[in-house]
Amino acid sequence: MGPAEELVRIAKKLDKMVARKSMEGALDLLKSLTSYTMTIQLLQTTRIGVAVNSVRKHCSDEEVVASAKILIKNWKRLLESATTKKEKDAYGDKEKDTEGKKEKKKGLDVSCCPNEDVKHGKNTAEKHREKRRERRASADSRASAVSSSSSPRKRLTNSSKAKPETPRTPTSPSFFPSPCFLAPCYLTGDSVRDKCIEMLTATLRMDDDYKEFGVNCEKMASEIEDHILWGARGLQAPSAGGAHSTDMKYRNRVRSRISNLKDPKNPSLRRNVLCGAIEPSLIARMTAEEMASDELKKLRNAMTQEAIREHQMAKTGGTVTDLFQCGKCKKKNCTYNQVQTRSADEPMTTFVLCNECGNRWKVC
Ligand SMILES: [Zn+2]
Repeated sequence: MGPAEELVRIAKKLDKMVARKSMEGALDLLKSLTSYTMTIQLLQTTRIGVAVNSVRKHCSDEEVVASAKILIKNWKRLLESATTKKEKDAYGDKEKDTEGKKEKKKGLDVSCCPNEDVKHGKNTAEKHREKRRERRASADSRASAVSSSSSPRKRLTNSSKAKPETPRTPTSPSFFPSPCFLAPCYLTGDSVRDKCIEMLTATLRMDDDYKEFGVNCEKMASEIEDHILWGARGLQAPSAGGAHSTDMKYRNRVRSRISNLKDPKNPSLRRNVLCGAIEPSLIARMTAEEMASDELKKLRNAMTQEAIREHQMAKTGGTVTDLFQCGKCKKKNCTYNQVQTRSADEPMTTFVLCNECGNRWKVC
């Protein structure tokens, strides 16, 4: 039996172990793999990489996972060395940082995903060839090896051949001028605004609850952004005219909306926006206090209540009036005080005390 047949045999065994979820003997098999002089051709024709990677993913035994990782890392290096010199150098740099390594593995993860093979009926050799071709192309256009970690993903989305390449992966954020995924009808022609709308859209979509409300998140985000833009300039409506800018104030507003809408302690804010209880124009101009979670609101409310009680206890002054009727004793002998419990531009709160029965209430 040649090495290729043996590797195929081992790959099949490993696959079976994964399928049975029993990793007994996996470690021995993996160890036996280290004795093979691996070549690219063997990797391409035997599916051993896929099998080992699948063990790595599905096995809970740390020792097995660790040796699978080592094998994959070494083979990966082999593949890398076969690519262009330029890229190899870049990869060398990349290899030094641990993040890069992690990304590599992620990339491998995708490229070696056995389901992927089944789904698209591609053999490993073909995939690897394709990968190399792609890598060379990307190395030419961008002198960077980071592309090699993204290319398997690109291929993933590409496999349908219908969509354009969408290299938005967390593995290579800085190498692509982050493309915009907004539907064309929501594009504003301003890259900052588009980005903000996109981020707001993602925020609204962060949970699946937007589906139950049947919300078009892009449309809603676009409306919110529009209100923020005009609100940030202190204008009431777009009709006020004039140039608008995506200045710091605008950006801060967008940022604070996003962080509040994303607040895991405050899911009701996002839901209220999604269901329409809070309109886009309102969320665009709400203060941090108004957006705050119920928890915070309760706390604030409790503090206000405390202030009210203290005020009532003090009972300093107060105007005697017959304007109010006590709900308890129905008499009209009351004393009232007016207090600023909210912000200065809001109406005062009136506290009424029934001088007959001591009943207290508040009139907004
Ligand atoms: Zn009374």
